[in-house]
Amino acid sequence: MVPVSGFFGSSAPRPVQPGEYPLWEEALELVNRDLAATLPEQEPLRLTGFPPWEEGEAEYVYVALANGESQGNCLEPGSADSPALALAAVADAAQETVSELLWQAWPVCGEHGIGMHPQEADGQVGWWCAGGKSAREPAHVRAAVGALGSLVRPHRPHRKPRRRDR
Ligand SMILES: [Zn+2]
Repeated sequence: MVPVSGFFGSSAPRPVQPGEYPLWEEALELVNRDLAATLPEQEPLRLTGFPPWEEGEAEYVYVALANGESQGNCLEPGSADSPALALAAVADAAQETVSELLWQAWPVCGEHGIGMHPQEADGQVGWWCAGGKSAREPAHVRAAVGALGSLVRPHRPHRKPRRRDR
């Protein structure tokens, strides 16, 4: 029998160190741009690792809030090898963690006011919105992951139209 010790078998998460999963880290930088653009009071998300159940398996890596909490599934280990898969996986995990732990849809489409989901097409990963109720507002990709900040417009006071019922 080989005694099991150290990292394996403990249930404590550990912060993932820079350089361990380069593509996941690059993907998280893009997602954190979207977080900063939409929820500026939130600290950046980070990757946390949990030891595997079985020795020799890959550790479980989650996208967590700054306080280390996460929700949903761990990142699919195979997604660490492809930029598009990594971005789709990290955006999906971030969406789950943020929306579940902060009790709000995230990110929200500025046109339709509903939560969006990452979708990959032709190697590009964008935030997909189901659209509006009318057929004139079909499902659409709002922006590439990492580009939501380019859509945020400065706040302008909204003028109410004058009532003309008299
Ligand atoms: Zn929309």
